[in-house]
Amino acid sequence: LTMADLIENYPGLPEGIAGFSLIEKLKKQAKNFGLEFYSAKVDNVKLEDRESNIWQIKAGERVLRSFSIILAVGAHPRKLGIKGEDEFSGKGVSYCAVCDGALFKGKDIVVAGGGNSAVSEALYLSRFAGKVILVHRRNRLRAVSLLAERAKNNQKIEFAWDSVITEIIGKDTVREVSLENTRDKSQSRLACSGVFISIGYVPNTGFLGDLIKLDDYGCIITDQEMQTSKTGIFACGDCRAKSLRQVVTAASDGAIAAFSASEYIDRLKGQSYGTE
Ligand code: NAP
Repeated sequence: LTMADLIENYPGLPEGIAGFSLIEKLKKQAKNFGLEFYSAKVDNVKLEDRESNIWQIKAGERVLRSFSIILAVGAHPRKLGIKGEDEFSGKGVSYCAVCDGALFKGKDIVVAGGGNSAVSEALYLSRFAGKVILVHRRNRLRAVSLLAERAKNNQKIEFAWDSVITEIIGKDTVREVSLENTRDKSQSRLACSGVFISIGYVPNTGFLGDLIKLDDYGCIITDQEMQTSKTGIFACGDCRAKSLRQVVTAASDGAIAAFSASEYIDRLKGQSYGTE
């Protein structure tokens, strides 16, 4: 969310809000309700013992014990996996326009991808760049029509349709990219100073091993109550297998997961108001 320049489709905020500001507000609100924050990488999650309902989460210096866990681990940007991508990362290659866009004032920038992220990034970058060339492997955008129209009407944005980047080339910093046409396989080169890669996200679920059921993309499978394949473990947001990934759907998932976890704990303690 911190990478989002402007969130325009969160209900109740007609002027839109910067991702970073929304995060700060959400944190403040949660703290006011008594949420405790502890920052550490989770090493593993396991049941205390076979008969137990208690999960152990080993994270940093602490082993946390809990009846229930809500996984809200999100996702990280997918890489193109091409020559030069790692070599020029931070030297022209970026995955976040909000973080790095201002470094490219007046320069030509290539954006890879055709979804909502790529088009939003291209629009944001057009404020700084001399020119933005959006390279997409098809001849039409996946992004919603509102964003697609904005990009098409933006004088600074050009499109390289039916094209993929095959190599990022430079010396110290990025100087150009190699393109391949996906239809006739013809090759070309495009001079640029920056390459912003926005080709989707990979869920941060690797650390879970085979603890819970994941789909073929590594997203956590839940039911509509956000219950995963392991009793007591719930999941929400972009790490979950679902069709619409937006801030509002993540917030909605979170509300359901919190309610479900609370119900589950009440049931364990025999305090449930349910029908059993
Ligand atoms: P996305 O919707 O999955 O789109 C990824 C784009 O990258 C697609 O156009 C895809 O091409 C292309 N692509 C994937 N792998 C590629 C590769 N190896 N080489 C070249 N191109 C490749 O991902 P996203 O745009 O990052 O969005 C992620 C999620 O966040 C989506 O659910 C999106 O709706 C949501 N999101 C929402 C908003 C909003 O609500 N305003 C803003 C940003 C993101 P194809 O089209 O050919 O598959």
